[in-house]
Amino acid sequence: MAAEASQPIETRLFINNEFRESSDKKTFEVVFPYTKEVVANVHQASVDDVNDAVAAGKAAFPAWRDLGVDGRAPYLRKLSELFLEANNELARLETLSTGRPISQFVDAYMSSEIFRYYADAAWNSQGTASTHTPGILSMTVKEPYGVVGLIIPWNFPLVMWSHKIAPAIAAGNTVVLKSSEKAPLTSILAAKLVQKAGFPPGVINIVAGYGNPTGTTLAEHMDIRCISFTGSSLTGQKIQVAAAKSNMKHCHMELGGKSPAVVFEDADLEAAATQTQFSIQFNSGQVCVANSRVYVQESVYDKFVAIFREKFAAVKLGDPLDPTTSHGPQIDALQYKRVQEYLGVGQKDASLTQGGDANDGFFVKPTIFEKVPEDSRLMREEVFGPVVAINTFKTEEEAVQKANDTEFGLYASVFTKDLDRAVRMSRALQAGLVGVNCTSPTNAKDAAFGGYKMSGNTREGLLYSMENFVQKKSILIKSG
Ligand code: NAD
Repeated sequence: MAAEASQPIETRLFINNEFRESSDKKTFEVVFPYTKEVVANVHQASVDDVNDAVAAGKAAFPAWRDLGVDGRAPYLRKLSELFLEANNELARLETLSTGRPISQFVDAYMSSEIFRYYADAAWNSQGTASTHTPGILSMTVKEPYGVVGLIIPWNFPLVMWSHKIAPAIAAGNTVVLKSSEKAPLTSILAAKLVQKAGFPPGVINIVAGYGNPTGTTLAEHMDIRCISFTGSSLTGQKIQVAAAKSNMKHCHMELGGKSPAVVFEDADLEAAATQTQFSIQFNSGQVCVANSRVYVQESVYDKFVAIFREKFAAVKLGDPLDPTTSHGPQIDALQYKRVQEYLGVGQKDASLTQGGDANDGFFVKPTIFEKVPEDSRLMREEVFGPVVAINTFKTEEEAVQKANDTEFGLYASVFTKDLDRAVRMSRALQAGLVGVNCTSPTNAKDAAFGGYKMSGNTREGLLYSMENFVQKKSILIKSG
């Protein structure tokens, strides 16, 4: 299938409601990982461009804040509608830059839903009032920060764009969002929708570019008081250091994972195998919550693995633009090499019993390693590929110990029909989200999403994200 887009691809920065080239004319290539052809040369925001974007956001802030919820909502509603109209082009661009099978694209619909929700949800961002102190009426209100910085990864770019921008602007902030250098195209097309929706200039600014200088300039910026980041734990640490060294900006971090799934002998093995194999195969394993470690009780290990293997192998590798493809390539050469390295680690430390390198472009087959030592890098580091380690355990205590023996804590799951055990396990597992008889990507839109340990320090989700973009102010009124 041809990789040309159905309309010319916009590649410029979006600052103060205008598309413009980067000030130093630097661009970077976006490559379709299936054919390896360059589909766009995107403008990289220089330090000056980021400064301009922040200045535009700063100038737009007072008027945007003062519009109030009723004044801001129509813009969010309009953008919500435009996402649906642009669905096909957004799907195509996301597939061209990420290689995710186009049949799995529901992101424009999700974005539409998110903006529709936050148009009205801002009413619920309320404070408190009290007369408990004699002679004082005290109030604690929630106020926006001003211009906030948003930095997103490449694995679900459009959904990240919406999950961060919608609550931030609904709360009255203005934003500068930096997309990932690997997948900037839907962020720029969404900027066109912002322009079409008639947002006031400077409320939403979109810049593209590498971590350095585009991301670092945002992280160090003295006019940004709050930054929301989704990406790897390593980059999260760097941003926190930059924030601490500049102006102590608030940092909200959604980071990596090494999620365990624990399967007990009384579980519905068919359901457990079906779900756990999809969790690590979906988006070619490039998912923060993917269950990359599966622990199966010894007595049912062979039966479970037989079902897992069959389902895991039943994918169709191919052109991600073909709607029948279910397994795309890794996003780029770097990510493919990274997965190859871990395949090497696995082969040294354990037995590869299915899959491996497809030796075809950037494709990696759904891959199983068994009997992997718990101290292997394969068990401890985030591979971000379709590579699972399946190990055994004998007792519940052993399962808990192994599942928790990691610096990550994003999503953990347990499969059992024993209600008491399910409750015990959901309390014992150290993760921000625990699935009982379900695993990732299963989620509930109104659940709090975020990590324990090095998987993050914040929570997102319809009921939670707006809290990340407001600061509390107390007002004391003394009466006679
Ligand atoms: P990454 O950390 O390499 O990059 C993320 C973003 O940060 C990119 O836009 C990048 O350009 C930017 N960046 C890089 N260095 C920077 C710096 N020094 N200062 C400022 N910005 C910088 O991550 P990635 O490879 O794009 O994404 C994959 C990672 O994201 C995985 O670890 C995955 O688990 C994680 N992730 C987490 C969640 C979640 O909700 N917890 C969701 C999706 C992805």
